[in-house]
Amino acid sequence: MTILPITIVGEPVLHTSAQEVSSIDQQIHTLIDDMQQTMHAAPGVGLAAPQVGVGLRIFTWHYSGSHPYDRFLRRHAGIDIPDQGRSGVVINPSLELSDFREEALDREIEREGCLSVPGYSYPLRRADHAILTGCDEQGNPLRIEAYGWLARIFQHEFDHLNGTLYCDRVNAPYDEVVSRAITREGWGKPGLTWVPPSH
Ligand code: ZN
Repeated sequence: MTILPITIVGEPVLHTSAQEVSSIDQQIHTLIDDMQQTMHAAPGVGLAAPQVGVGLRIFTWHYSGSHPYDRFLRRHAGIDIPDQGRSGVVINPSLELSDFREEALDREIEREGCLSVPGYSYPLRRADHAILTGCDEQGNPLRIEAYGWLARIFQHEFDHLNGTLYCDRVNAPYDEVVSRAITREGWGKPGLTWVPPSH
């Protein structure tokens, strides 16, 4: 397994819709192993293939099941979130979302970051419930009903497969804050990557 360089905002593959995987061959298995190792090394809770420079519809995730967002939803929205700590990979996914809650955004709890915009995080509303379908690594059908933070991970990673970063979705005033940060870092142009350290 290899830790792969992670593409940074501005790299064209991050801003382009990824292609369907046509056959799950050895190359795909190697890519998935490398993505999982890269995600753990980063460390991150999810990684989409465009983030390692590959324009294919695959993402991986790893969730310990203990994010404060889930406690927040239980308390404030009365959503009964099951224990959903898990890891996985999906190939050629679809994602079905619930409606978005309408109350004001909690700027501390409802924030997310991205390994392709390293070191930053901004608040963003996501759907509290999502149903992920697609194939697993063996090509078997996969269906996962997710709530709270896991649903957020799925939405973030699924967006990557459509060339959308979370910073494309943040609302004012954070949209300007994030674009200033990208300019300040010298990002927003092709060819930039970073490599997570091996442990
Ligand atoms: Zn991301």
